[in-house]
Amino acid sequence: MKILSTIAEMRAAARAVRREGKLLGFVPTMGALHEGHLSLVRAARQRSDVVAASIFVNPTQFGPKEDFSKYPRSFERDCELLQGEGVELLFAPTSEEMYPPGAVTWVTVEGLSEKLDGKSRPGHFRGVTTVVAKLFHAVEPDVAFFGQKDAAQVANLRQMVRDLNFAVEMVVCPIVREADGLALSSRNAYLDSEQRRQARVLSRALRQMAAAYERGERNALVLAEAGRKVMAEEPAVRLDYLEIVDPDTLDPVATIARPTLAAVAAYVGATRLIDNVVLG
Ligand code: AMP
Repeated sequence: MKILSTIAEMRAAARAVRREGKLLGFVPTMGALHEGHLSLVRAARQRSDVVAASIFVNPTQFGPKEDFSKYPRSFERDCELLQGEGVELLFAPTSEEMYPPGAVTWVTVEGLSEKLDGKSRPGHFRGVTTVVAKLFHAVEPDVAFFGQKDAAQVANLRQMVRDLNFAVEMVVCPIVREADGLALSSRNAYLDSEQRRQARVLSRALRQMAAAYERGERNALVLAEAGRKVMAEEPAVRLDYLEIVDPDTLDPVATIARPTLAAVAAYVGATRLIDNVVLG
C-alpha cells in the first residue's frame, strides 16, 4: 500500500491507475477504523480494479465545542487494516495540505445542510461537502463508497455530486452493527460500560418503529411516537432528534408511501450517536 500525503502525489498515483484503464474506487474515512469502514473497503474491492482510501480527520466539520481534538486516532493500526483488505493507495494529508492559509471557498448544499444533524451541528455538512469535494479532486475516483449510517451525509453528498457535475458514481453500503444492534461508530470508543448498555436504545427504538411499520402502520406521527417511547426508557440518553423524513430531501413525511428514512440522534453522556433505518 502506497501512502500519499500531498494532493499532488495522490493525484499522480490515481491518474497513473486510470491511465491504465483501471476503475478506481475510493473510500473516504476519518480513521479509527472498524468493521463499518472495512465493509466499504470490501465493497470497493469488489466493484473496482484499484482501491484508494483516505484518512483525514476533517477539522471543518467539527463545531468549536465538538470533539475534534479528542477524536480517536489510530493511524498505524488503520494502515494495517487497510493493507489487509487490499487497499493500494492511502491518502493521508495534513490539515495544512487540505486547508492552506487563506482558503476561503466552501461547498454548501443550501437547505439540506441545515436539516437533521445540520440543525444541531451548524456548519457540519458544509465541512463535509467541502472536504469530500476536495478529496474527489485529489483522487478523481470513478466510484466512491459511503455508509448508510450517515444518511443525511449521503443526501448532502448526492446533491453535491448532482449539482457540481462530479463524474463520480456514489455507492451507499448498509449499516454494520454490533450483535446487540448498536451501529458501529468510531465514537463508540468514548462510551463506558454503562453508557455502552444505554446506547442500545437507539437501535431498539428504530427496530420498534420498523416492526410497527411491518404491522401496517403508515402514520409517521404514530411511528415517531412509538420510537420516542422506547427512547424514554433510557432517561440518561438525551434525544437530539427522532424524525421520519424523505431520504433525498430530508423533509418530514406525514404518511409513508415510499422508502422513508427513520433517523435518530441522541447524546449518551457527552457522546453524540446517530442511527437510522429505511422503512419500506
Ligand atoms: P467516518 O470515518 O466516521 O467519517 O466514516 C467514514 C465512512 O464510513 C462514512 O461513509 C460512514 O458512513 C461509513 N460508516 C461509518 N460507520 C459505519 C457503519 N457502522 N456501517 C457502515 N458504514 C459506516
